[in-house]
Amino acid sequence: MSARVKTIARRGASLQERLYLIEICKGMATSFGHFFRNLLDNSRLAVRHYPEVPPEIPVRWRGRHRLTNHPDGTMKCVACFMCQTNCPAHCITIEAGERLDGRAEKMPRRFQIDLLECIYCGYCVEACPLDAIRMDTGIYSVNGTRRDAFLLDLTALQAGQGAFPEDDYQKGGA
Ligand code: SF4
Ligand code: SF4
Repeated sequence: MSARVKTIARRGASLQERLYLIEICKGMATSFGHFFRNLLDNSRLAVRHYPEVPPEIPVRWRGRHRLTNHPDGTMKCVACFMCQTNCPAHCITIEAGERLDGRAEKMPRRFQIDLLECIYCGYCVEACPLDAIRMDTGIYSVNGTRRDAFLLDLTALQAGQGAFPEDDYQKGGA
């Protein structure tokens, strides 16, 4: 049995279609229409005017890290190395030292996070048994011209502030 062949007329065969002039003009008219409309009134543009308008940060969003304190100001971290052990990027370096405030035996003498290696996975926050490390600073812009600007040390980590009310963090935080 011979196959039935259906011949379909090729499109774009005429000179006008092969030059694409009309279609190019239509496209340009659309582009320029949007351009001039948005030039005169950009309020309907579906873009954010960053950095003038900062993004809204949800409470579960993982930003730059910080170390938290007890209400009396003493550090919660007891240098248990759980965060360092669980960090898949191996970007946390902790050196433990003796603790003298009576809260535990150890505290970090050195606590460093290399933000150039960090993948912002949040595993360190999940692994911490004491809620001593959080990523709730709301800091989304991390930049610098030298590599050491991306090394968060103990001082920088302790200076970080939470960007959300504590109740909101407890209800929705990672
Ligand atoms: S967010 Fe992830 S990669 Fe970054 S320090 Fe924590 S565990 Fe490591
Ligand atoms: S931040 Fe938490 S998990 Fe990391 S060393 Fe301190 S107490 Fe342990």
